[in-house]
Amino acid sequence: MSIPPYDVVIRDGQVIDGLGTEPVSGDIGVRGDRIEAVGDLSGYDAKCTIDASGQYVIPGFIDMHTHAERGLPYPELAASVHHLTQGVTTVLCGADGYGAWPIYSDIGALSEKLMAQGIGTNAALMVGLGQVRRQVMGLADRLPTGSEVEAMKERLRLAMEGGAVGISSGLVFAPDRYVDTEGIIDIAREVAPYGGIYHTHIRDEADGLLEAVQEAIDICEGSGVTTVITHFKAVYRRNWGKLREATDVIAQARRRGVKIYADQFPFVEGGPMPLIPPDTWLGASGVVEERVKRISSILESLPMDKLLHLYLEMKTGGQFDVGEREFLGTNAPLLRQMIAGGIGYSVPPVGTALHHFSSWLGTHQGPGNPDERARFAARLSDSDDGMRIRAEVERHIANLGGHDKISITGVSDSNLNMKTLGQAAEILGQTEVETAITLALRGAEAFVILHSEEDVEYAMQQDFVATGSDGDYPYFGEGKGKLGGPQAVRAYSTFATKLRKYATERNTITLAHAVRAGTSLPASILGWEDRGVIREGAVADIAVFDPKSIRPRSNLSDPHQYSEGVNFVVVNGKLALDNGQPTGVLAGSVVGRSG
Ligand SMILES: [Zn+2]
Repeated sequence: MSIPPYDVVIRDGQVIDGLGTEPVSGDIGVRGDRIEAVGDLSGYDAKCTIDASGQYVIPGFIDMHTHAERGLPYPELAASVHHLTQGVTTVLCGADGYGAWPIYSDIGALSEKLMAQGIGTNAALMVGLGQVRRQVMGLADRLPTGSEVEAMKERLRLAMEGGAVGISSGLVFAPDRYVDTEGIIDIAREVAPYGGIYHTHIRDEADGLLEAVQEAIDICEGSGVTTVITHFKAVYRRNWGKLREATDVIAQARRRGVKIYADQFPFVEGGPMPLIPPDTWLGASGVVEERVKRISSILESLPMDKLLHLYLEMKTGGQFDVGEREFLGTNAPLLRQMIAGGIGYSVPPVGTALHHFSSWLGTHQGPGNPDERARFAARLSDSDDGMRIRAEVERHIANLGGHDKISITGVSDSNLNMKTLGQAAEILGQTEVETAITLALRGAEAFVILHSEEDVEYAMQQDFVATGSDGDYPYFGEGKGKLGGPQAVRAYSTFATKLRKYATERNTITLAHAVRAGTSLPASILGWEDRGVIREGAVADIAVFDPKSIRPRSNLSDPHQYSEGVNFVVVNGKLALDNGQPTGVLAGSVVGRSG
């Protein structure tokens, strides 16, 4: 009796099955896209042999919070090297209510595009609460009518029938934040018959954390849909420690059978944020919203072709996607809101037409606007106004956690970049408040330590907390804005950081626990029986890493660095990373609810 050779055999590794069990030494045989054998395979032939001696062999990681839809559809980004180099083989797309595909398109178009082009990792797609709401009622801040609710539900059903794995929400963003708890329960119920999940950026991660966690539990119980509180954390120093209370509330709910989970990234930094409150520029709170409304009403008088032109100038890439022009061309109110929001909030607006338009309105905000700069300087030197502004800036610094929790970014002098506000104040010989104002005028922003290390570790130890990077999709070497900030670091190094810092150096969790949080736990949340686990019959998504060399390299000073130490990655049975180098094979699939 002779058995034909395996396609891949991974030999002599320490196998961690993903279920939380400790490593066992052995071999893994892969045929086609499945793991066919686990155990002693010495004497069996293979077309491709991977020597895993001295290394761990684990199921490929499943990243529970990504914005990979921003990268995967583009050929030059489709390989997902930042994920493969951490052993990630599957990404959950469309978080925070945005949805994985643009509002003028549908899930079928994206799935077909990804499959036809090829992708480096598997991708699971979520529909967004805000996405369907925008499609039906734009950014309107009001209760939907009965027929609008029906239209939103219909779009959800189409998404679920097209293979979406659930619905995401971002309850701090418009228009998601206009939806109340009952409204979300009503909508979320629609995904229950399909076995979909509800994945939520909750309404408040700071002072109102406990209420927001309770709302997620209420939505979970009211809709019967498995719920994930994403990037679980407590924001701002004054709220640190509240995470323990929130964890207890979730644990209690879970004990009575509520299917609620969380995911987290292992970092404490956020931003970039303004060094002084944006309203300080403008004199009073609510000015930006007022401005957006005013622009919106002015746009009422512009014909559709002018609106489309303005929109195109705002858009990265400057081109309409397939179907976009048609969709927006028949949705004037939405188009006006998008443009008004773009102009009202941007500093400064991009594109010539937009620039002229906003200069004409006097809306171009921030230090780059000479008028505004002059007005601000005048107010600073006025004794009453100046005192008030300085008091506001002082409060802002305290709110962000204090001068030692704030790092400067985005200034041209390298001796100030990445210094704390306190250090920068010493260098400039000014108070911290004056330094914040001076540097804000020079275009600087702040990276802020928003979360506490103790909270991160406490959450990580819970058995209901999965791993989700919330990374942006980094364009390697492109370092502007969020692509160069904490969102880039998260993208490049979430999984490597968990393995290195928390499971190896600090021993916050065991390696088996860290692996489970990124594999079988997310797979079970998503209802996948054949992924996130090493066993016979499971899908062959596998990573091999060296415990001595696994480490993140990305950091805030130098974010565009791939992680090291993951030597081999197999995606759906195909070798995607070989000796730490991407093979260029795009073996990922769009993964639906059945996994
Ligand atoms: Zn989010």
